[in-house]
Amino acid sequence: MKNFIFQNPTKLVFGKGQIEKLSELIPLDVNLLITYGGGSVTKNGVYDQVKKALKGRSYTEFWGIEPNPRVETLRRAIALGKVKEINYILAVGGGSVLDGTKLIAAGIVSDKDAWEIVLSGVAENQIPFASVMTVPATGSEMNGGAVITREETHEKFSFGGDYPQFSILDPEVTYSLSDHQIACGLADAYTHVLEQYMTTTGQSRIMDRWAEGLLLSIIEIAPKIKESPNDYELMADYMLSATLALNDFIRMGISQDWATHQIGHELTALHGITHGHSLAIVMPGTLRELKVQKHDKLLQYGERIFNITEGTEEVRVNKAIEKTEEFYRSLGLTTRLSEENVGEDTIETIARRFNDRGVAYGENRNVTGDVAREILRKCI
Ligand code: NAP
Ligand code: FE
Repeated sequence: MKNFIFQNPTKLVFGKGQIEKLSELIPLDVNLLITYGGGSVTKNGVYDQVKKALKGRSYTEFWGIEPNPRVETLRRAIALGKVKEINYILAVGGGSVLDGTKLIAAGIVSDKDAWEIVLSGVAENQIPFASVMTVPATGSEMNGGAVITREETHEKFSFGGDYPQFSILDPEVTYSLSDHQIACGLADAYTHVLEQYMTTTGQSRIMDRWAEGLLLSIIEIAPKIKESPNDYELMADYMLSATLALNDFIRMGISQDWATHQIGHELTALHGITHGHSLAIVMPGTLRELKVQKHDKLLQYGERIFNITEGTEEVRVNKAIEKTEEFYRSLGLTTRLSEENVGEDTIETIARRFNDRGVAYGENRNVTGDVAREILRKCI
């Protein structure tokens, strides 16, 4: 196990009716901005719950943070925040509203342009922010990451910074999610676990078992959620699994991959493919291309997650990859670029972008543009 420091400061407030706790969770003496997406919260009653909880308090609202939040939109929120001298932000929505809010929180106290902050990779300073999370998927409610899109150039990059002060997770707010959003959320959470698990074996038994517990839970609940998307206990497990998949708990002292996410971000930036869906397409290709490097972990994963014990090692490794792709398909997502009409030209664009940027991703820092090209060819 590598050396590590673990500190996750986010207070999780979980359960039915918990949005009413906002009044006690947000300090009284702050100048509050509340950020929203495109309006799902007005249809499912979340907006009314927030308004009721904060009755009698004054605050400013900013609406219109879109899925894959755009820096062009966030710049407007930052300008508003500066004028209004905002010093606390509550994000009410999915990962996009919260990620966008993380950039607003940084932009308000910076002289830099918002895109410069994103490109720098780290927000040096942010005002405090918190969330009412309405989509189980990103883990953004309990982590320090954010992913921002620049529409003008079709680029999508992430940066790190502070964690939310608190996040309220009420599984009942997920009842209004579409089947596609649920499928993408489950795919995102599952892939977050794989990005941290599917690396070198023998780094930590504890991290392995914790990750395997999440993978098994997601596989177990996914078909049940399809049948009963309004079942409280199921949605509670779904919501918590997404948070635990990316809140630092399963990555103590181990190496991490994240190449699939980096390639997926390009597919979203270039073609608008929903984040979780892009991962369902790329992850099987990553495993195929890197199956020698990930050989031992694929064997462990195959046995512990899918009960694959028969056949030669090569047969078992291939079976584990097939089972992974089958799982994504079982969610109702396509898993091939050809099914989304994405072809060679996009593959070349992504390979060139990675090569131009001089980046290399993955646990061994060997996923360059040329390797990304081979991964994507295995996704056709
Ligand atoms: P999202 O983009 O926040 O939301 C997707 C859609 O769901 C929006 O149209 C939204 O509508 C709607 N929606 C939200 N809550 C709803 C509800 N309860 N019922 C019905 N509809 C609802 O989805 P997301 O998957 O949470 O976030 C994706 C973004 O997060 C991507 O940009 C991805 O790259 C990023 N991401 C971040 C991290 C991280 O660690 N920070 C990790 C992985 C991915 P409204 O706009 O109308 O509300
Ligand atoms: Fe993700």
